[in-house]
Amino acid sequence: MIAKSDEEALVILARKIHGELAGRIAEILMKKGEVTDDDLAKILKVDINKVRRLLNLMFESRLVKYRRARDEKIGWYKYFWRLTDEPAHRVLEDRKRMALKILEARLRLEEENEYFYCPKCGRKYTLDDADSYGYICPYCEEVLEPYDNEKDKLVLRKAIEKLSKYSPLKIEKTTKT
Ligand SMILES: [Zn+2]
Repeated sequence: MIAKSDEEALVILARKIHGELAGRIAEILMKKGEVTDDDLAKILKVDINKVRRLLNLMFESRLVKYRRARDEKIGWYKYFWRLTDEPAHRVLEDRKRMALKILEARLRLEEENEYFYCPKCGRKYTLDDADSYGYICPYCEEVLEPYDNEKDKLVLRKAIEKLSKYSPLKIEKTTKT
């Protein structure tokens, strides 16, 4: 799928990251510019709290921004939401970089540590923890066994590889001279 504009790309990202309703919210913001959460809920016929929760998630993903203004009549603050003005590919790259950092840190942990596990409850312990518990599971008092984490490492390596290649936008790069 090729996005014609950055705003369309943001709609695609919103839908991929946060689901269908987020995609519809992004579409409305693309068409209307600025919309309050109240109006979004009315247009979509969805519970306002659901809309607010999604908007906050979309804000954390840097897909949307807001402006706050006091409503003189009711004295409360109103939030006007809009699509971010950041380029979509940068939003995506930042998100990818953050996720990769977490996965790589987890892989490093797996690579640098020895693990034990409890055959009864399945809990996993680092060598240090297992040692401090005397190699007995503190929850079920079972003797801990060495844990082979090759599978875990493989899963993490595959996830890192997949994420590195992930590019749902495929934006055409226009070179301006
Ligand atoms: Zn246990």
